[in-house]
Amino acid sequence: LTVPSDSPTLFDKIINKEIPANIVYEDDKVLAFRDINPQAPVHILLIPKVRDGLTGLSKAEEKHCEILGQLLYTAKLVAKQEGLLENGFRLVINDGPSGCQSVYHLHLHLLGGRQMNWPPG
Ligand code: 5GP
Repeated sequence: LTVPSDSPTLFDKIINKEIPANIVYEDDKVLAFRDINPQAPVHILLIPKVRDGLTGLSKAEEKHCEILGQLLYTAKLVAKQEGLLENGFRLVINDGPSGCQSVYHLHLHLLGGRQMNWPPG
């Protein structure tokens, strides 16, 4: 069981380039890289470079509104870069144990390249 906490996660190591990742987008605030265990032909994780307490969306405060908006907009940019705008894509945020969150550094999953199902499991 992963216990939610604000201690460093492996995403900090990816941000600091201490472990390799297949980075598809980077600016001063947001990093996007391919998921190591892809659940679709395109599966990209988008994360804030500075966590600032955002272990998950459930920890969001008003001060985080700008980075939250930036993450969503960047997801659209990356979806475009991956050729997903025509057929569509899915964004997912897992939060907490019931949401199957495993890494406690807020991240958006961008999934595409196949037909998704609804409702998800
Ligand atoms: P969560 O389950 O917390 O919503 O998503 C965490 C995601 O991080 C999972 O989809 C998992 O496959 C991915 N992941 C875990 N370790 C690594 C890693 O070392 N590199 C990359 N690129 N993705 C990882």
